[in-house]
Amino acid sequence: MRKKLIFIFLDGVGLGDDVATNPLASVRMPILHQLTGKRLLRNVHVCSNKVLLKGIDACLNVDGIPQSATGQTCLFTGYNASAFLGYHLMAYPTEELVQIIQKRSIFKYANSHHISNVFANSYTDGFFTSDNTSRYSVTTHSVLAAHNRFNTLDDLIAGNAVHWDITNSTLQNMPNNRVPEISPFEAGKNLKNITNTHDLVVFECFLPDLIGHRKDMSKSVAFFDMFDEFLRGILYNKDDSIHVLMTSDHGNIEDLSFGGHSKNEVPLLVIGNEAKQFQEVARIDGIFDAIFSKFFNMKPNLQKEKL
Ligand SMILES: [Zn+2]
Repeated sequence: MRKKLIFIFLDGVGLGDDVATNPLASVRMPILHQLTGKRLLRNVHVCSNKVLLKGIDACLNVDGIPQSATGQTCLFTGYNASAFLGYHLMAYPTEELVQIIQKRSIFKYANSHHISNVFANSYTDGFFTSDNTSRYSVTTHSVLAAHNRFNTLDDLIAGNAVHWDITNSTLQNMPNNRVPEISPFEAGKNLKNITNTHDLVVFECFLPDLIGHRKDMSKSVAFFDMFDEFLRGILYNKDDSIHVLMTSDHGNIEDLSFGGHSKNEVPLLVIGNEAKQFQEVARIDGIFDAIFSKFFNMKPNLQKEKL
């Protein structure tokens, strides 16, 4: 059976303590709980036939607080971008990081090894017409490095893409909007169905990081309620060949006491028969290698490739 992987990147979700300032301590998440029997809290560890859930390091032996540009470059290239720069870089990648992404982005690497792949996120009509190249995310650069096409709002309307906010809520107030709001369950089904045509499907959502910076408990709980429904849609009638991986670049939303990133470990959740292939992943820069060397059975070990 041809194996498929849905890689979900949630920005700014760490594993924190069981305290009142952590929305993950109180939110129900029935689908996640049914799968793992656990909440997303510090020291969680589940390794069964079909589920792996553990904390992984995002600090990478580099001083300071983990940040988005370096963390996401680690996730989507497998290189320790923070060690390469000597510090954690926030927000968008600089030229130095773009060079790493161009060398080995997840989509470029998949293309070169004949693994059909897609970035599932949709881009708005004006995104590439305005002068905002300095605000291209790591994932956008990763798609450019591979010379892949970007999903448009037409792909989203056709159910072949998922918007970064999952339900299309942020599009509703845009002028001349033509995209209907959908349920997170429907969005999850759409994401799963993209595996009908691609073996590696990447999706990113940066809502939890935005909400975490605002220290908004009710929006945090609402996000995880929505995410659990999204997960229900992904898992609904899911074929055994389809696997789901969820992780993050750094902590934030799990500690609403100060509204910044944290040094906490981030969750690595893998659902599917091959979940154990990821059990040795200990840091965010190790996921890339596990995806290609173990899940897609390719050798040699990428960690030995130097920048
Ligand atoms: Zn942030």
